[in-house]
Order: sequence, then C-alpha cells, then structure tokens
Amino acid sequence: MRTDNPNLSEEGLQDIIDYLRANGLAVAARPNTWKTKDSAQGAHEAIRPTHAAECQAGAGGEEQALYKLIWQRAVASQMANAQFDVTEVRLEGNVPVPIDNKPALFVAKGETITAKGWMALTEAHEENENQTAEPAQAIPALKTGDAFDCKGVCIAKQTTPPSRYTEAALVKKLEELGIGRPSSYATIVGNLKSPVRHYVIINAKRQLEPTDRGFAVVDELVGKKFSFLEYPYTRHLETGLDQVAAGTKTYQALLGEAWAVLKTELARMHDEGRGEPAQAGDGTAHFKRQTVAEARCRCGGTIEKSPKAWSCPDCKAIVWNTIASLPIDEKTALALLAGERLKMDGLQSKAGKPFSATLFIDDEGKVKFGFF
Ligand SMILES: [Zn+2]
Repeated sequence: MRTDNPNLSEEGLQDIIDYLRANGLAVAARPNTWKTKDSAQGAHEAIRPTHAAECQAGAGGEEQALYKLIWQRAVASQMANAQFDVTEVRLEGNVPVPIDNKPALFVAKGETITAKGWMALTEAHEENENQTAEPAQAIPALKTGDAFDCKGVCIAKQTTPPSRYTEAALVKKLEELGIGRPSSYATIVGNLKSPVRHYVIINAKRQLEPTDRGFAVVDELVGKKFSFLEYPYTRHLETGLDQVAAGTKTYQALLGEAWAVLKTELARMHDEGRGEPAQAGDGTAHFKRQTVAEARCRCGGTIEKSPKAWSCPDCKAIVWNTIASLPIDEKTALALLAGERLKMDGLQSKAGKPFSATLFIDDEGKVKFGFF
C-alpha cells in the first residue's frame, strides 16, 4: 500500500503497449487513465512491473503470486475493453403471490462475450478452468410468449444485521469516509489490534470483535460530543496536513485550529462534570450506567454499574462482571471496590486450569490476583 495513484508513468505506459503489440494483444484505443481521488497522494505512479515482458518474477510462491497479480492488473489496464451481448429475460407468473396478490415477476440476465479484450490476458495466464467466456448461468434461447411449468414457494426470509468488519472491510470503509491514507491504514488497524490496547480480537471469521474494553472505551467516549470522534474531523485534519505538505498552510495554523477546538471541548466536558452517563447515540453506546446507591469506592467516589462492570468514575477503578471465567456478583464487586481483599475459588486460567487467588484492586484501579 505504497501509492494510491492509479495512473502509469509515460515510460510504464509505453513499455506495456510495446509488450501488448509484440504479443498480438488488443491495445486500448487510447491510453487508459483514471481520475485520482481527492485524497490521493499523487507523488508516485501506480505500482507496475518494471518490464512488462517479464511475466514472472519473485523468489518464493508468495512473491511470484504477488508479482503476477501486479503484472496482470498493470498490463490488462492498457488493453481494449471486453465486449458482451447482454440478454435479459423477464418471466411473469400467472398465479398471484400470497403477499400482495400480484403476479410474480422474475428477471434473469445472461452475457455472451463478443470481444475478449483484456480478458484474453487473464485467461491466457489463468490455469483456473472456471475463467471461461461462457457465463456461469447461460440463458437458453427463448421466444416471447414461451410458457413454462414450474412450482414455487414463498420463503419467509428475514434480513440479518450487517456483519462485523474484517480488516479489509474496515480499510474500505475508512477509504470511503476519507479517513486515513494508504500509508496509515496499517497503523490504524494495528492500534485496534494492539495487545496493549486490547480493543478488539480477531474472531474465527476473521472479523474484528470488540473486547469488553473496546465496548467500554466507546461507551465512555460516545456522547461526550468530542469533534475528534466524528468522521469529518480526521478527514479535515488530513486535508490540512496535505495543505501543509503542499506549502499552502503552516503547521502552526493547522495545530492552532485543532487545539482551539479541543480546548473548548475539554472545558465544556469539565463544566458538565465527569462520569455523566453516555448518551445513546448512533447505537454504539451499548449500555447505560446507573449509580449504585449507598455503595462507595475506596476513594470515596460513587460506584456506577453497567451490564458488564462496576466502576468508579473518580479513580477509574473497575471490576468486570467476569474475572478469570468466574461470574462476579454485585456484593463481591462492591467489596473489591471498597478496598477489600477477597479469597476466591473457582477461577480459571486462559488454558482452562482452575485456581484460587486473593483478589484486590491495585493502585491503578485494576483487579489483581494475589497468591498468598
Ligand atoms: Zn474510586
């Protein structure tokens, strides 16, 4: 992810065109160029093979596969378009559908390739037999008025909520929102996954799944109305950084603006008081906090309860509702927050080994295990 410029240099373009002509492949009528995104850093040309005539390069299997991918994309990008004949068939059912008593309509589309264009290249270099010109679902020859017998059933289908982001899907979303640059996506994802921050884990489906801490961070920040949490903030800041890079803005001016906004917002947060319950905003605030009446933290602060933890907004001490796989009840949590040391049995190590320990809250407000 070194460059996001989709266009080739003059030299690269000529090299590819020479290769295509020498091999009897269809060259695009005019060199293909693409409009760069506003955010694109145009300093580098698109990634391409140094010499298009080198169809293979790389030491190992992965390197060779990567080279092949780049080679194919770069060379194919300057070839003629593929052309298809498209057939669309509309079928009308003659029995009303139980939903709103209208006849059911069906549409099918089929394509037949008439000029392979760039696809000739991928085909020639693809061992995969599936990459043939025949469409996967060819449409049979039909005449208007042809009738078919068929039976159908109405399926009661429910939509499912959107799935969690994978790393690739998240980067795509960031790109869409104008947040980050190709050079910073890896850092952003790295921060989310960092074992120190522990905001998300990668689940079996390779999706980013928030940890309790991830939920707590969002819960704590959403509703505080910090502009740096909003999508446009990062986008504007990056535009500003581009302006600094281009010399049309000084970094003092940029940082001055950012600092002024942050200062105002911090002051407002201070005025409104800390520990205010998170506002239910866009659905990312998963739970509300309630104050546990009567209960006091060892620092004298009041205790707040969320479905996942008991905590003190003053000293940030926190007791999660599960410790080492053992469910923690409110009495235990409040006693720990009050500063008591409790001997607990039935704890379980990450490897599944049961153990006993004395639980207490350390100076940083986290539950610690004592073995004495
Ligand atoms: Zn406290």
